[in-house]
Amino acid sequence: MITYSSNRFPREIGENGWLKTSEIEYSAPSIDQDHICDWLVIGSGFAGVSAARRLTELRSTDKIILLDAIGIGEGAAGQNSGFMIDVPHNINAKGNYLDSIKKDKVTISLHREAIEFASQMVEDYDIPQKVFNKLGKLNGAASQKGFSFNQDYKKQLDALGEDYKSLDAKQMSEITGSQYYQQGIYTPGTILIQPAEFIKRIVEKLNEKIKVFQNSPIKKIEKNQNTWEAHTPLGKITTKNIIFAINGHINNFGFYKKRLLHIITYSSLSKKFNNNILKGDPSWGLTSSNPIGTTVRKVRVDENNSRLLIRNTWRCRQNLESTDHDFKKSCEKHLRSFIERFPNLKESPFEFSWGGRVCLSLNGVPAFGELDENIYSACCSNGLGTVKGTLAGKLIIDKACQSNSSQLDKFESIEKPAILPPNFITEIGANLKIKSREITAGRDL
Ligand SMILES: Cc1cc2nc3c(=O)[nH]c(=O)nc-3n(C[C@H](O)[C@H](O)[C@H](O)COP(=O)(O)OP(=O)(O)OC[C@H]3O[C@@H](n4cnc5c(N)ncnc54)[C@H](O)[C@@H]3O)c2cc1C
Repeated sequence: MITYSSNRFPREIGENGWLKTSEIEYSAPSIDQDHICDWLVIGSGFAGVSAARRLTELRSTDKIILLDAIGIGEGAAGQNSGFMIDVPHNINAKGNYLDSIKKDKVTISLHREAIEFASQMVEDYDIPQKVFNKLGKLNGAASQKGFSFNQDYKKQLDALGEDYKSLDAKQMSEITGSQYYQQGIYTPGTILIQPAEFIKRIVEKLNEKIKVFQNSPIKKIEKNQNTWEAHTPLGKITTKNIIFAINGHINNFGFYKKRLLHIITYSSLSKKFNNNILKGDPSWGLTSSNPIGTTVRKVRVDENNSRLLIRNTWRCRQNLESTDHDFKKSCEKHLRSFIERFPNLKESPFEFSWGGRVCLSLNGVPAFGELDENIYSACCSNGLGTVKGTLAGKLIIDKACQSNSSQLDKFESIEKPAILPPNFITEIGANLKIKSREITAGRDL
């Protein structure tokens, strides 16, 4: 009998501020009996919700189950910084986030298709603007090295014919309320989402058409004649098709072994502070011009109050687990980056800090395709799951349903994720590289 089993399951790291401050109460039951369906989508991140949504479009009369090992919105999809970026942002690139013009043009068109697919859900499901807001993105530079990254970025945007605006120190300060940034580039196409609320609101609406379960980890999958049986601790699901949308956790089932890099990155969300304390635009999002640098977002809570989000620190952990030491060090780094940028807010540091998992492949391709008969993978979103996961989820259903799609041809790589050295060498090598980049990032971290 063919069996795939997992003995490792996702766990939260710290306390996710997006989830804690989300305005929606939705939660799903856990599985406590057996079920039968046509499609089982495992994982309720961007890839999972997008696969479920596509199934409601292409197979509206089929029985569909979407489930997650933990709560809806608790995984990386609810933990991220919420930048749905249209322009190239390959965090695994050799030093900046760009590729060749030809590749970047394809990337931009795919990212925009993903944003279009998400926008349609937002419209159909009445998701409020503050959860999905087309505010664009700043690329902030605070050091000489940061300037040179932005120079390269401008050249590439020019060559691609993309719209952008160069900003000087004064303009950066007028937007961010901080004197920290000496230069910036604004690109208009990025959507800033409240990620946990975005996921929860979509799943709540999907739940009107499909069954949803949370806190129901799949431990084992077995083939039984023409169907598959997926086992959770308290019930099994018999299904014709399985979609794995579990990002790096796909390794736990033995697929893509030694081909996926597991990175943990960390975020903190400040306490609420009065809008009078920090001038500038009500809401904005900034990624660092240096790919290893600090991401910052200002989030409007209500008429009188806002919060700031800080994200930095990468650690390669091939067992997908954070350590207490990594978490503590990242929180210290968050505080330093926060106070350097917003010294007048030093009395309102963080209320929530957390970490989450990012899955990368060395050659930047997804773990996408058919794994066994009627078992599919839409995993490894290379750190940009808001768009790449969304697209992978939609396109894996197009593939499984044999629905012709030009996007699928563009997205589906003939390359598999490249083979990595043994885990301990990968981990040491990746962490050395990350640390050396962090040291040279200077003020951009
Ligand atoms: C702090 C942080 C900041 C980030 N910022 C950004 C950003 O600004 N923009 C961006 O695009 N990306 C960002 N990312 C990356 C982004 O969050 C991920 O790429 C994205 O969440 C991947 O989506 P996914 O649907 O493929 O997988 P995930 O969101 O990881 O979802 C997979 C789901 O599968 C579930 N699962 C795993 N194993 C099982 C099992 N055995 N049974 C059932 N369920 C299972 C997990 O619980 C999880 O909910 C960030 C990540 C982090 C951690």
